[in-house]
Amino acid sequence: MWIKGKLFLGEIVEGCVGFDRRIRETRRECKPDLKLPEDSLIFPAGVDMHVHLRGLQLSYKETVASATSEAVYGGIGVVVDMPNTSPVINSEETIKLRLAELANHSRCDYGIYSGVTKENVDNMPIAGYKVFPEDLEREEVERVFSSPKLKILHPEIPMSLRPGRGNRRLWQEIASLFLIRGKFHITHVSNLETLRIARSLGYTTDLTMHHLLVDGERNCLSKVNPPIRDITERRKLLSALFEADAVASDHAPHSSWEKGLPFEVCPPGIPAMSFTLPFIYTLAFRGVLPISRAVELTATGPSKILGIKAGEIREGYLANFVILRKDRWRYSTRYSKAIHTPLDGFALDATVYGTIVEGKVAYLEGHSYPVRGSNVFDETGRS
Ligand SMILES: [Zn+2]
Repeated sequence: MWIKGKLFLGEIVEGCVGFDRRIRETRRECKPDLKLPEDSLIFPAGVDMHVHLRGLQLSYKETVASATSEAVYGGIGVVVDMPNTSPVINSEETIKLRLAELANHSRCDYGIYSGVTKENVDNMPIAGYKVFPEDLEREEVERVFSSPKLKILHPEIPMSLRPGRGNRRLWQEIASLFLIRGKFHITHVSNLETLRIARSLGYTTDLTMHHLLVDGERNCLSKVNPPIRDITERRKLLSALFEADAVASDHAPHSSWEKGLPFEVCPPGIPAMSFTLPFIYTLAFRGVLPISRAVELTATGPSKILGIKAGEIREGYLANFVILRKDRWRYSTRYSKAIHTPLDGFALDATVYGTIVEGKVAYLEGHSYPVRGSNVFDETGRS
């Protein structure tokens, strides 16, 4: 199959890309199989390395199909899911259970992190491990630390950061960065100090858009872990757009009755997976970020951290593309079961016209198609 338009190949050039499940060739001229509008811009699809797809016993909040439909609506081709599902993913048995669910229902490519396990599951097709701060005291964490796989940590302890709920200092949360070693990635950094220390220790980092944009924790809709910082911290965090290795959504949907509970007891989480990529490209279209930086944050950066052949329009890489147009719209979710986010109504200049996942049209012109994604960490049977 061939598509034609303005392609991002390090810079934007007129051309064609030919692909099946993987990218086979780029050239100047072709007869495209899919007619795209004249002004279409073709970029590598987004890679969101931190999501909570829910499903299993949490399907009342979100299902794998609704979450991954939301992903392709937001230009995302690969999602990597966190293990704090119900049941928790932290054994060979639950990893198999989760991978089977995703194989049946995911509408984009995927991967999963395991929690800290008792048995060695390094040979299973997982992206790596999520180490929660409380795991750092467990014996099994030693084995996970020595695993060659990626480990993800968030050092920011939520209880210590929410005003009036404790008085831990920044240095105490940052201290956990010094308890770790190996191939670590520090996720959803919400302040610049953590980001700079993590980077100086050789770890990669990502940040979420809500930590930049949402104005404080006003109600349960904007309650999230780690909490939104004050305006001074948020402004400082803008520099992270030039320093972090990736952006991630931390898509964390809950049912509307849960979000309607009193603030003190309602569950934290913001479900705006489809916001990240259009927002980053909006910044690029407005000249705030170079286009190459937008591609790096949304696609190339996370792919490199995960060690997958995706996130670039390059021969042999996954044929995952996002087709963008410069067109103003106001943000809202579309397929997620979570219909309210604190970013609703935000004006964006980048519209996702289509998303292609492993050569198949997963989303086009306002319609999602139930394509089957695959586990990008499973090399068996891949060409
Ligand atoms: Zn999360």
